[in-house]
Amino acid sequence: MSFPEPRAEPDPAPRVNLLGFDRAALETWIAARGARTFHARQILSWIHRRGITDFEQMTDLALGLRVRLREEACCIAPPAAGRVLDPDGTEKWLFQVDSHNAVETVIIPDEERRTLCVSSQAGCVLNCAFCATGAQGFNRNLTPAEIVGQLWRIWHDGARSSLERPIQNVVFMGMGEPLANYRALSPVLHLLLDDLAYGFSKWRVTVSTAGLVPLIDRLAAEHDVSLAVSLHAADDALRDRLVPINRAHPLAELLAACRRYITRHPEREILIEYVMLDGVNDQMSDARALARLLRTVPAKVNLIPFNPFPGAAFAPSPESRILAFQKVLVSQGLRTLIRKPRGQAIQAACGQLAGSVANRLPDQFRFATPRACA
Ligand code: SAH
Repeated sequence: MSFPEPRAEPDPAPRVNLLGFDRAALETWIAARGARTFHARQILSWIHRRGITDFEQMTDLALGLRVRLREEACCIAPPAAGRVLDPDGTEKWLFQVDSHNAVETVIIPDEERRTLCVSSQAGCVLNCAFCATGAQGFNRNLTPAEIVGQLWRIWHDGARSSLERPIQNVVFMGMGEPLANYRALSPVLHLLLDDLAYGFSKWRVTVSTAGLVPLIDRLAAEHDVSLAVSLHAADDALRDRLVPINRAHPLAELLAACRRYITRHPEREILIEYVMLDGVNDQMSDARALARLLRTVPAKVNLIPFNPFPGAAFAPSPESRILAFQKVLVSQGLRTLIRKPRGQAIQAACGQLAGSVANRLPDQFRFATPRACA
């Protein structure tokens, strides 16, 4: 016969982290506690505009509400566990999101401003053949607080950051597939655009996706932000191998979703990302196929020189080929930019982010990707 273990005192209810609450969620939370909803706006502004997370310091809130907040809520951004600076000015921060996982955030300066490249997941399940994040596996989605917390820390705690230029752009091009974590992404997008929080221009917040078609439609319906699509190949056979999610949502479906995005937001264009892989997708015939494919989508093409990482099975296209590829696109009437690699020396460039992720995804759940492409 076995006896039950002696009962420990029940844990107090876990406190809810308000850092990731957008205005609507905060109003609902506040109203459920019998307080007036305008307090939600005050709290939002304390947290995100002024960087105050100690409820005691929110002096324009009623005392009773402050007590309640202290008992039931908290406001915590993930701690920064490390910071490295590239000679080119790019800065990479490592955020410890739990005892097993750390994600990376990159700050990319230009002459006057900075762009923040945030992570949305610890690892990534999509396993694109040329990406370091995919190669290390997937552990979990980040919470809204862990996503916006990257910005919060750099914005408020990073005032002594080596580069004192305002952050003007936020791009979801760090670790993970933002649309695969839509539930957390959505409140963060609200916070980024909310004047009581960060007040970014809707033209300066970009969500980048490998092509999760149903969620592109949901994003179009619920948000007005810039959309970048990681295309990387102009035919399905090649894209199936480079970006395995293509097997679920092939090119025709993806481009149709892009057109629907534009129908919903007619003043926008889609940013098409295309990584240049030596001998794989960088031939002039690929450029012509890409131009044909994009005839029906208002798009701007961003050619990304491949950023190598340890164990990568690809090599970067030579510069002369990238320029020739660009020339073909331009001759077909496509606006085309070549993305300047930034932060390569500190492994902070596109596709080099690996953080420290405890992979807990069994192999059979990952898309099989050949190590090299013909
Ligand atoms: N999951 C999102 C965000 C990924 S990172 C997406 O797929 O769009 C942002 C961009 O970097 C994507 O276009 C991605 O395909 C590209 N990228 C990934 N690995 C790269 C590498 N090693 N070199 C250059 N670009 C890379």
